[in-house]
Amino acid sequence: MNLQRLSIGIIGGGIGGVAAAVALHRAGIRATVYERASELREVGSGMMLWPNATRVLKELGVLERVVASSGPNQHFLVRSSTGSTLMDIGLGHFDVPALCTRRSELLEALISALPAGRVCLGHAFESLDRQKSSVAVHFAGQASVEHDFVIGADGIRSRVRSQILGIHEPIYRGYTIWRGLASLPGAVASGSNSETWGRGKRFGILGTGGDRFTWYATANTDCDHADSSEGRRHDLLRMFAGWHKPVESLIAATEESSILKHGAYDLAPLKRWGEGRVMLLGDAAHPCTPNLGLGGCMALEDALVLAKSFCRETTPELALRRYESLRRKRTRHVQQRSLLMGRIGQWENGLIAAGREAVTGMLPASFFERNLRRVYSYAA
Ligand SMILES: Cc1cc2nc3c(=O)[nH]c(=O)nc-3n(C[C@H](O)[C@H](O)[C@H](O)COP(=O)(O)OP(=O)(O)OC[C@H]3O[C@@H](n4cnc5c(N)ncnc54)[C@H](O)[C@@H]3O)c2cc1C
Repeated sequence: MNLQRLSIGIIGGGIGGVAAAVALHRAGIRATVYERASELREVGSGMMLWPNATRVLKELGVLERVVASSGPNQHFLVRSSTGSTLMDIGLGHFDVPALCTRRSELLEALISALPAGRVCLGHAFESLDRQKSSVAVHFAGQASVEHDFVIGADGIRSRVRSQILGIHEPIYRGYTIWRGLASLPGAVASGSNSETWGRGKRFGILGTGGDRFTWYATANTDCDHADSSEGRRHDLLRMFAGWHKPVESLIAATEESSILKHGAYDLAPLKRWGEGRVMLLGDAAHPCTPNLGLGGCMALEDALVLAKSFCRETTPELALRRYESLRRKRTRHVQQRSLLMGRIGQWENGLIAAGREAVTGMLPASFFERNLRRVYSYAA
């Protein structure tokens, strides 16, 4: 297959879409990203990049840059609401580092690896027409384009997915997630990140380098949970009053208007991700609840496997089928594990939550590390 002659359109300029463009570019394929936003910026605080994802960044040539603007993740602690450590997962023994990074910095690093003009902003995808040897893509208020193949990387509410596979409404899993960024000198030792479990509530703290932290909070709520009149930060301070240090001071140090709030949504694993010349990637294909911090990491893995499939197969059609078959089992596993972790993490009954703490505290860290090693050792 002559890779240089292929032209691929990617709908969605999030982590998955931009990473796919970089991976395809490195494989010698011309890929263009179409993003509906008028500027390319990844909103939403920070995220964990586990070794399976930093291994991808290394292959894409951007790991050094991401390391320079991130915090290390050498230990991940699970704590009780009083602050005692229930589990300490060591992450220092992989060939690549685990990191906590700001999303904007990850996206900037990926974009820096693309030639100019490969990202078209202000292009809101509307529909596509599948033709015999190409796909015509139509946008709101912009000229249509034609590509040999199209990748739908347009997120959990993917319009590309609904056009090729029909409507799949995301499923609400019973809790709300808040996220924020704060600077708080000396809040937590560098490299030591954590999630604290309460009753029907959790709080995570991730160091993204220096005095910068990103945090997340969860609580069981209806899907249309509304902020009180006192505001979002006030609500969170009330919800997490009395939790161990520095939970309250991190919330207090966060600018109110920057606190993001999302429902926890996912989809049951899809049976198919593509149809003919159109294929899905990232959250469009396999959205998961964020309980393992792996959704973005899966999108990065997808990007590399997609590009490698084009290099290994004899036709682009076979490459798309190979990508889909290589990725479905792994992402299904992560979707199911994330859902389960969320259910356990959100247990609200006092007795059950106490039992969860007792059992977690008794299990050796090696038990969790062995399980996680399978996920983190993956080389796309
Ligand atoms: C609270 C929370 C915490 C998380 N923490 C982590 C973590 O620690 N680690 C991790 O790996 N993952 C984490 N995730 C998951 C991660 O954010 C997602 O898996 C990841 O962003 C998926 O990337 P994507 O590019 O597939 O989709 P998205 O990031 O959703 O990007 C889709 C892009 O498509 C664009 N788009 C949508 N519709 C159109 C259209 N019609 N036309 C053109 N463009 C369109 C959007 O504007 C967007 O830019 C978390 C998620 C949440 C909600």
